[in-house]
Amino acid sequence: MENVKTPIVAIIGRPNVGKSTLFNRILGKRIAVTDNKPGVTRDRNFSLANWRGKSFYLVDTGGYIPTAGEGIELLVKRQAELAVDSAKLLLFVLDGKDGLTPLDEDITTALRRHAEKVILLVNKIDNEREERNAAEFARLGMGEALPVSSIHGRSIGELLDLVVEKLPEEEAPPDETGGIKVAVVGRQNVGKSSLVNKLLGEERVIVHELPGTTRDPIDSHISHKGRRLTLIDTAGLKKKSRIADEADLYSTFRSLSAIDRCDVALILLSSVEPISVQDMKIASLSEEAGKPAMLIINKWDLAAGADKDDYRRIIRTRMPTLSYLPVFFASALTGYGVNELLQRIIGLHDAAKNALTTSELTKCLEKAFKKYGPPAAKAKRPPRFYYATQTSTTPPTFLAFVNEPKSIGEGYRRYLIGNIREEFGFEGVPVILKFRRSE
Ligand code: GDP
Ligand code: GDP
Repeated sequence: MENVKTPIVAIIGRPNVGKSTLFNRILGKRIAVTDNKPGVTRDRNFSLANWRGKSFYLVDTGGYIPTAGEGIELLVKRQAELAVDSAKLLLFVLDGKDGLTPLDEDITTALRRHAEKVILLVNKIDNEREERNAAEFARLGMGEALPVSSIHGRSIGELLDLVVEKLPEEEAPPDETGGIKVAVVGRQNVGKSSLVNKLLGEERVIVHELPGTTRDPIDSHISHKGRRLTLIDTAGLKKKSRIADEADLYSTFRSLSAIDRCDVALILLSSVEPISVQDMKIASLSEEAGKPAMLIINKWDLAAGADKDDYRRIIRTRMPTLSYLPVFFASALTGYGVNELLQRIIGLHDAAKNALTTSELTKCLEKAFKKYGPPAAKAKRPPRFYYATQTSTTPPTFLAFVNEPKSIGEGYRRYLIGNIREEFGFEGVPVILKFRRSE
């Protein structure tokens, strides 16, 4: 999972040391969370974060460990190993009140060969007097541990400075010769490998030698009607786990890096399973990353006689903020929809690159403002819209000049984005609309 533009920082450690408190502290305070849509961000254990202009994905691996049950020790160690494979940096959290435990030592053993990736933290050091508790952790032989208090926010700024200092400079994304880069993401067993195989089977596979070790992502290349498509990291799809939490964490790491590298994300759901929180989290990642995406209801062969519109309604209700994603029905088993899917991927990719002129964009927003003005209660002065212009593509970003930017609430912004999306064919494309004051 190298070549990732936005690095992953994983919080690891045994249960109860304060991982989730630290996660929330980092995101809730002092850090600008890029995604601040209510209901999507807060109850999740990964998020895009930014400190001093550097972006990274923060993952709380503790969010994938059951709070009770047998085998926690084993799972904690395996998750540490998984994190080493996928993350650029690990925040290894220890408990300054409990002191060093055998499980801490086991985790250390699992991390030993990757000491350069590890930042050791002694949490629950709530005041200066307790700082001496941190000393005993030097016995782990992983260097000095930074004493912090996640509850009180002690030394969290220092920690984040250290994180961005240790993160590598942004790597240039790999060359563009592979054509459209497609990420196939979703929970375990929704049919990702099957769909990828079907896609590869349908079309001419371009053999591509990738040098290197087992850790390199293995991409597969195909061509469809003269266009090249790259299916990202198809080797990584094969990893399976019988432990649900481990599988979820693995799919999270994989989805984060695949979405980061892609031009188009295919978010797979299974027609026979209810939409889970994990599904919704993965789906919202594409929006956070600003990538065009579509939801694919796979295993449609098993949904005998079901009504597609019913499915669409369920999805709209469960994921209201993602209702702009097209919903596509497919079966990796029978091949239903698979050929059309390739065409849809190309269409989505091309639509996302659409650049609008100032005049057509302004006309569209003028019409929208005329139809419904912004809610009056918010406006100090009668709202006025002057003009709008596109400032960048992928994701399409627009700047609208108005007399009172503050009078434009989140709901109204979404309404305007909806108008742009519909008029210019940005279905499935995250659209950013900003406002600036003008007289
Ligand atoms: P996790 O299982 O590692 O994610 O741990 P949690 O974040 O759920 O925290 C476990 C317990 O430790 C909770 O009761 C927290 O309130 C407490 N805790 C977390 N951070 C601190 C801290 O900095 N100081 C103190 N005194 N308690 C903390
Ligand atoms: P992954 O973990 O997401 O890569 O899922 P797999 O591709 O390994 O598929 C998990 C299971 O679902 C396998 O037993 C597949 O044969 C089955 N499967 C995948 N796609 C379909 C489909 O469209 N229809 C049916 N009936 N089964 C499918």
